[in-house]
Amino acid sequence: MKSSSSSTTQTQTATQEKQQNPQTKVSPQTQTKGIDKRIKDFEAIIGIETHVQLSTLTKAFCGCPYNYGAQPNTSICPVCMGLPGALPVLNSKVIEFAVKLGLALNCKLSFNSKFDRKQYFYPDLPKGYQISQFDIPIASNGYVDLDLPVEFGGGHRRFGITRVHMEEDAGKLLHSGNGSFSQEIIYSLCLY
Ligand SMILES: [Zn+2]
Repeated sequence: MKSSSSSTTQTQTATQEKQQNPQTKVSPQTQTKGIDKRIKDFEAIIGIETHVQLSTLTKAFCGCPYNYGAQPNTSICPVCMGLPGALPVLNSKVIEFAVKLGLALNCKLSFNSKFDRKQYFYPDLPKGYQISQFDIPIASNGYVDLDLPVEFGGGHRRFGITRVHMEEDAGKLLHSGNGSFSQEIIYSLCLY
């Protein structure tokens, strides 16, 4: 009996030691080396999407004045509310600014371009869709050359520009205390 009890105790102790010091335990240095090896197989690519608001007198697709921050429902019409039968007409100034930006960013301009209707659910999308560009943006494949500050390593770097496209601002909803709502729709250029 005594011998058996002793054997059980020894087995338990051995199991506990094994759990506390598992043979697969890896030192932090070895772990870091393993991660470094795996990271070498990857390249980090960081994309930035930048929205640029244009300084035009009227909105992108209608004749409503562009008054960002104006009182709700004071600068709207059937077109920017997306009412049935209302057809948008592009503001030529938007094209002018988009072309200027495309050239400044050394992009290739598209002489044939088009707009796409992007339908999605979003709280700040009063008319239920946004006029944007998808497969044929106005400009693409550009670059920006920069001299890096010394504190960031110095030297010359070239950053690629994937595309410049035009789109209207999705607008926003403002909810008042009495349950009414208001909308404003502006527009922007989207660059990324
Ligand atoms: Zn309008």
